[in-house]
Amino acid sequence: MESSLLPRAPLEQEHADEVVDAPIDFMTSSAERELTRLPGSEREGALLGPVKVVHAFWLAGMSCDGCTVAVTGATSPSVEDLLIGRLPGVPRVVLHHPVTSVEHGHAFMRNYEMAANGELNAPYVVIFEGSVPDESRAAETGGYWCAMGSETVPKPIPTTTWLTRMAPGAAAVIAIGTCATWGGIPAAYGNPTGSMSVMDFLGKDYLSALGLPVINVPGCSPIGDNFTETVAATLLFLNGLGPLPEFDELGRPAWLFGQTVHQGCVRAGFYEEGTFAERYGDPECLVEIGCWGPVVQCNITSRGAINHVGGCMNTGGVCIGCTMPGFPDRFAPFYKRPPGTIVSSTTSRSVGSFIRPLRRITMQFNNREVLWDKTKKVPSGWGHVAEPGPVKKGMHYFYEKWQFLNAEKPGRKRGTEIPLDEGEFASAGAGKIVPIDLER
Ligand code: SF4
Ligand code: SF4
Repeated sequence: MESSLLPRAPLEQEHADEVVDAPIDFMTSSAERELTRLPGSEREGALLGPVKVVHAFWLAGMSCDGCTVAVTGATSPSVEDLLIGRLPGVPRVVLHHPVTSVEHGHAFMRNYEMAANGELNAPYVVIFEGSVPDESRAAETGGYWCAMGSETVPKPIPTTTWLTRMAPGAAAVIAIGTCATWGGIPAAYGNPTGSMSVMDFLGKDYLSALGLPVINVPGCSPIGDNFTETVAATLLFLNGLGPLPEFDELGRPAWLFGQTVHQGCVRAGFYEEGTFAERYGDPECLVEIGCWGPVVQCNITSRGAINHVGGCMNTGGVCIGCTMPGFPDRFAPFYKRPPGTIVSSTTSRSVGSFIRPLRRITMQFNNREVLWDKTKKVPSGWGHVAEPGPVKKGMHYFYEKWQFLNAEKPGRKRGTEIPLDEGEFASAGAGKIVPIDLER
């Protein structure tokens, strides 16, 4: 059937007048096409501020592409939000990515050449995924570790060469994932590649064209939203519409990595009460089966892995410290109880054994309607609810006295409490007593 005979989809209908006159020339690079793009074609969001478009050049070193996968799952903001310039004040991002870009071959590499040669006529950021290998070691045997593109005489260009060429002119260099931020698994003990972090490679004195040291968004894999949010905040700053986001002394976004994962953990209450999981699948705190959360800066328990869902301890996994510069060597062996727990979990176990029963007593009373205290029965058809004994009642009497010291009980005025007989409920409103037959 002729496609023109089909009814238009709503979105297609909405943009029916936006006719693209000339077909896209896929033989040219997207950076070249950007140079001919009409200024009026930007989305409203990207129109605020002086910078309308920013190129993002993704470089991959010793990487598993897990960071790329994580970022494609980001939702707040999403990669799509950044690519179409939907966020007010955040310039539209033109992404050049060795895995996800449609372009390939010379047209793809031309983008990188233009950036390195200063021909973009627009700012750019460099995003580095994976650790940076020591190419001099590979060169000893005539090889290379990671490369992209080739010289005129076919010879692969190491990714480290691209980083060296492009970092000085970049508005920002952002290392994504623990391999790029701290070396990660490729830099673990015994690695033959001499792998290191972007920060190690560029050195302490490196500053981007905007005057920024390397920005580090760690995690193995990182939370995609941590990355896109950091990019969006940095681009707002680049556009002069936001302050420089707060980074800590290691270049991590401080608002994302300022707390330990333990502080936001869904199981922290179990830790505090001194109850611990003995095996995987138990609901309690996982510290005694290998969780390093109390000493690891990470926000996955509050933010979730993707779209606020998932995350290590939320789904039953222990923390192995994957966001930390010491990962993995300083957290080995995985799944073994960290030595510090001998002090901390023993302390919370003994404190918890005292606190827990007291809380259960308060919980028992807070699980009762006030009416049930007066009628002395719980009208639940689901099961028998035990009445608190005299000792608990005595303790709760003093607890309530303390609770309402210098305060009035909510919902009642002094002198309006009316003693009730069983089977009868009275409310004291406007001086009128209304009996209710509970057997009705
Ligand atoms: S599971 Fe780990 S992060 Fe969560 S409360 Fe226990 S020790 Fe802390
Ligand atoms: S909780 Fe631990 S293992 Fe999980 S993402 Fe955070 S740092 Fe990595």
